[in-house]
Amino acid sequence: MGFWWRPLGVLASVMLVALILWAASGLVAALGFLAGIQAFVMLRRLWQEFRLARWLEHPDEVTPPDATGTWGDIFYRLEKLQRRQRASRSELTNALEQFEHAAQAVPDGMVILNGNEQIEWCNPASRKYMGLDSERDRGQFIRYLMRQAHFLEFLDAVDYSRPLVCKSPTNREVTLSLQLVPFGEGKKLLVARDITELERVDAMRRDFIANVSHELRTPLTVVGGFVETLADAPDLPASESRRYFDLMLDHTRRMQHLLDDLLTLSQLESEEHILKDELVNVPELARALKTEAESLSRGRHQISLRLDSSASLKGSLQEIRSALGNLVTNAVRYTPGGGEITLAWCEHNGEGVFSVTDTGEGIAAEHIPRLTERFYRIDRSRSRETGGTGLGLAIVKHVLTRHGARLDIQSTPGKGSTFSAIFPATRIQQSSTAESGKVIPFREREQAVG
Ligand code: ADP
Repeated sequence: MGFWWRPLGVLASVMLVALILWAASGLVAALGFLAGIQAFVMLRRLWQEFRLARWLEHPDEVTPPDATGTWGDIFYRLEKLQRRQRASRSELTNALEQFEHAAQAVPDGMVILNGNEQIEWCNPASRKYMGLDSERDRGQFIRYLMRQAHFLEFLDAVDYSRPLVCKSPTNREVTLSLQLVPFGEGKKLLVARDITELERVDAMRRDFIANVSHELRTPLTVVGGFVETLADAPDLPASESRRYFDLMLDHTRRMQHLLDDLLTLSQLESEEHILKDELVNVPELARALKTEAESLSRGRHQISLRLDSSASLKGSLQEIRSALGNLVTNAVRYTPGGGEITLAWCEHNGEGVFSVTDTGEGIAAEHIPRLTERFYRIDRSRSRETGGTGLGLAIVKHVLTRHGARLDIQSTPGKGSTFSAIFPATRIQQSSTAESGKVIPFREREQAVG
């Protein structure tokens, strides 16, 4: 209502002046006055309309018209509207910029397709995984750019709830999981995620389960068979049943070793398993390992010890003993009778090197990089005959990695091998009074080796 007061007030005043003029000077003077006012109002309106039209045409370049009265009010309101629009436009631009930045940073490939499956927008990661270019391919039909049959089937599917797993068209080593998400009016968002690592872990898990099942199946079948035989023939001669019991014991021990090694590995891998901070007296440990190697060898090998350093190691005694013990046991198991085995502890370029050298069968170069894989064996039956589980070197590698150390393997087939555990300088402590704690006997494989 406030809008009407002013113009109505002006109109009333003009009418009043016209009436006064009519009364004082006659009708002609009053009409002349009114015609003059009318002409003034029209000219003013034309002028304001011209300013308004000019401003509306170039709202950013021309300053808003400045006027009084009703026109002033109209201009003020229009300017307010324009300011509000500008603010919301800049908010929208900011939001778009933020979205653009986020989409650039997303590691997954993202493509927006319109209702005709033409590319409207794609982020940089889509170039890496799908070979798409945000500038070059805008407006292109995705079908013409990604022509793999399974992708086209996926695009035509009605149900997009299941992702498509396929190789990246730009790199066959990369496995992608493609997901289509419908949105808006007929639009779709295509998301490509790199699942190479997940696939690898999954394959490892499957292999691992297959390996463990395979390892357990043989001893379980043997033990089951003997139990059946003994149950079916209770009058078996004592010597015969003794032999069966011994064999069952052998296989039961094998399963026990396998489970022990699996548990050790899973403990080493568990994040809660914190590395102990003990002082391991390596010379003392090496002497204990030598004694145990002699007992395992039962005089079949010539075993010697060379101590060129008196340094101790900082770490977990139990883990270091288990790792070095595995290297020593392997040397005994894979060296034929009459061979030589040398245990040595020295410092080289500031690093601590514990090495086990044997004159055994040696290892061909192509096997060396894979020896620390779980269940990797060069000769399965030889490993089993000597009580091996195929997990020993995997445990060694884990323990060494936890201590910042590494395993070096030098070998010549037919001549022998040297397995060296190399500890970083930071783990070495020069101390003659270090205590190694009590020596824990490592598992016995005598019966298998003998
Ligand atoms: P295993 O229980 O079979 O011995 P490991 O992980 O300890 O498992 O060793 C993996 C494989 O490495 C063994 O099966 C064997 O073929 C090879 N190997 C390990 N140590 C030696 C060695 N000192 N000489 C020859 N081959 C070895």
